[in-house]
Amino acid sequence: MRTSIQIGRIIGIPIRLHFTFLFILPLILVTFAEGPGPMGLGEAEELSRFLRYSVAGIAASLFFLSLLLHEMSHSYVAMKYGTKIKSITLFIFGGLALMEDLPRDPEKEWRIAIAGPLMSFALGGLFLFTYLGIRAVNVVIYEPFRILISSIGLLNLVLATFNLLPAFPMDGGRVLRALLAQRMQFLKATRRAVFVGKTFAVVLGIIGFMPDPFLLYSTGEVRILFSPWLTLIAAFLFIAATEEESATIIYAALEGTKVRAVMRAENTVVPQSIRIAELEEKMRREKNAEYAVVNESGDLKGLITFNELKKLSVEQRHSLTVSALMNPLDPMRDTISEGEEAIEALKRMLGNKKNSLAVVEEGSGRIAGIITKRDLSMHVELLKGNT
Ligand SMILES: [Zn+2]
Repeated sequence: MRTSIQIGRIIGIPIRLHFTFLFILPLILVTFAEGPGPMGLGEAEELSRFLRYSVAGIAASLFFLSLLLHEMSHSYVAMKYGTKIKSITLFIFGGLALMEDLPRDPEKEWRIAIAGPLMSFALGGLFLFTYLGIRAVNVVIYEPFRILISSIGLLNLVLATFNLLPAFPMDGGRVLRALLAQRMQFLKATRRAVFVGKTFAVVLGIIGFMPDPFLLYSTGEVRILFSPWLTLIAAFLFIAATEEESATIIYAALEGTKVRAVMRAENTVVPQSIRIAELEEKMRREKNAEYAVVNESGDLKGLITFNELKKLSVEQRHSLTVSALMNPLDPMRDTISEGEEAIEALKRMLGNKKNSLAVVEEGSGRIAGIITKRDLSMHVELLKGNT
């Protein structure tokens, strides 16, 4: 499903808008046009609706630009370290710069992570100093613009502070992990940072439902002090922290491992001319579910798995040959060289929605084995027990 659209390109980076951004935009418009000060124009009753919404439109654009500059700032530093930026997407919780092969060097990682909040602090400072400057020298300025300047300044400060929360996937979580990683293994640092993030999320979740203690004490009335929104954000942070942990565990477990160390090298080939019934018998005997299909001269022609067999009737199993049922080989998507990194095999499977790849010998291109998602996760599980 396409959930975002490209709206342009800046220094070669595609800028995308996520559909959830469409919900936040009217919210900003209404909050600014109707809400109370210091963030809104609601108290300026003498202003016409049209004027209030026009200024709110400018506010929304400036907010959008602030988010963009925050992400551009991450991207700029990452690009200086040679990382490719695939895209920048703006969605309901803010922005996300999609980077290819993020450096695993803690020194670089924390610089990339801190660049965004620093930009937001700088923007917040710029707007607030402008606001204070205008007040100090008594320049006469159109009142809605004064409120506009101060609220965009405040919004940027909120953005910077919120992003510095020490929880994944906020920038603060990445900074914390990078600082820890300078003193311990990357995996261990991730686990610590994830633990801090989860603790933080739980506390935030409880605060979201906490009743106002003074009101409870004086009148016995139960009223939520902050907002249940906090609990929603906390849940989001908790899930994201868990995801970051498992992604890093897989990455760390597979790092430095070659495809040939994880692949299955025996009983992986089936001739294309045999009947499906024979293949089924072979699968049962060899206890395998994935095979590389070869022709008479041993050239790789396709892949076949137990999944394809399941839909067939008994008659079909006896009449059809493997070549009729196999998935023809697309060398770019279905094969990997035995000397490549195992993590590369995982990326290829996830990217092309495949569960197995044919492993080929370097140079000759002949079949060397089969690698499956199951093999990879088994490898990860075994290593997890050792850390
Ligand atoms: Zn950021």
